[in-house]
Amino acid sequence: MGIKWLKNFGHKITELKPSLIPLTASKNSLQLCKQLQGLTLKNVAIKIQDKKTNKTIYEDFGEMLFTHFGVSGPIILSGSAHLLRHKNLQEKLQAGDIELLIDLKPALSEKKLEDRILRDFEKEKNKEFKNSLNELLPSKMVEQVVELSGIDERKKVNSITKEERKSLVNLLKCFKITISGFRPIEEAIITSGGIAVQEINPKTMESKIIKGLYFAGEIIDVDAYTGGFNLQIAYSTGYVAGGH
Ligand SMILES: Cc1cc2nc3c(=O)[nH]c(=O)nc-3n(C[C@H](O)[C@H](O)[C@H](O)COP(=O)(O)OP(=O)(O)OC[C@H]3O[C@@H](n4cnc5c(N)ncnc54)[C@H](O)[C@@H]3O)c2cc1C
Repeated sequence: MGIKWLKNFGHKITELKPSLIPLTASKNSLQLCKQLQGLTLKNVAIKIQDKKTNKTIYEDFGEMLFTHFGVSGPIILSGSAHLLRHKNLQEKLQAGDIELLIDLKPALSEKKLEDRILRDFEKEKNKEFKNSLNELLPSKMVEQVVELSGIDERKKVNSITKEERKSLVNLLKCFKITISGFRPIEEAIITSGGIAVQEINPKTMESKIIKGLYFAGEIIDVDAYTGGFNLQIAYSTGYVAGGH
């Protein structure tokens, strides 16, 4: 409504687009996300990558979450803002060429992670593999990791081969989810685009076109990643506008 008025008043409106939207998983990853639904991963590193070129589109570190449709949480939402900015990525998303790579143990190098796994295995050598990862991973994830590792779940940990250990390390450092797209616009956390900033006096937030009209918050063409920045934009611009 406000945007329509302002357009009629002669203000320039940059294209309005949803931003910070959860991502949907493609068919081959959906079941996995559903199985992990509700699981929050803290302190993980993610890469959103073009499968064909291995080009990294976005990297982040922090918290994410699995849902019944795919993935969400702060670092995923920030990644979505990045994906939304690249129009040419839409086709790649539909073709299943965009992958989310999750490093579940970013603080450990591959070597250190392997050493850690070995130490866990040595604690109880006759343990079955399926019961050996509880200290390393959230319990909700163990079953899926065991399955994806390709290692026989009943194998005793002392007979797991070096190759098998390496493939487990690879899986933990590069847990893959294929992304198919975005949730509907209604689920967007913010709108990007709005009143062109060139038409606003930043010292007062007053319109340069209509005297006595002040702007604050999302109606302005300013938006940011997750982390409180969007609220900060609203508070700061509101404070300045209110003061004038
Ligand atoms: C689920 C969710 C989580 C979020 N989490 C974060 C976060 O963690 N950190 C962060 O920085 N940002 C977050 N955001 C974004 C942040 O909330 C917004 O960027 C910010 O609130 C924008 O402030 P605003 O004042 O411009 O607009 P709004 O907060 O949307 O306020 C606009 C107000 O105007 C009222 N209104 C609309 N039309 C009319 C009308 N015709 N007449 C009278 N009143 C009207 C609305 O009811 C509303 O109260 C989140 C957003 C959502 C949806």
